[in-house]
Amino acid sequence: MSARVIAPFHGGHDHERCLARALENAERVCRSQGLRFTALRRHALELVWRSHRPVGAYDVMDGLRKLGHRPAPPTAYRALEFLHQAGLIHRIESLNAFVGCADPEYSHAGQFFICDQCNRVAEIDDAVLIHQISQHANELGFTTREQTIEIHGRCADCKSDRM
Ligand SMILES: [Zn+2]
Ligand SMILES: [Zn+2]
Ligand SMILES: [Zn+2]
Repeated sequence: MSARVIAPFHGGHDHERCLARALENAERVCRSQGLRFTALRRHALELVWRSHRPVGAYDVMDGLRKLGHRPAPPTAYRALEFLHQAGLIHRIESLNAFVGCADPEYSHAGQFFICDQCNRVAEIDDAVLIHQISQHANELGFTTREQTIEIHGRCADCKSDRM
């Protein structure tokens, strides 16, 4: 397979470890890019990483408020925008929500498999697919702004009888 699995559909696992790793990654990314990882940004990232399910901006804002921040909506949006720009989170366009990226130090667009039943998201990075799309765009004289691929359906857990 030409694709790299960045995040599988995580089942029963130690999510604390995912979260701890995400925060370590974020600290490293910010340090190497000379960016400030403020308390607000950190909390926003923790909220997005609460699970492997996409989180909307409104929920992040709500979460920040519960953590004692008093963010006006633009502040919360700016924090998410910062995390997005730094590659720490991805935007799931079809759900207008965000998921954390498990490998932010590696620049990639990512392709997302979204389970409509449990809402979990898996992420891969397929270089061949990206290359093919670029070729198609070239043939069409099309300038790509963003190359987000989102596939909706059901994960293996939700397909089985265990549901
Ligand atoms: Zn996890
Ligand atoms: Zn990613
Ligand atoms: Zn599922």
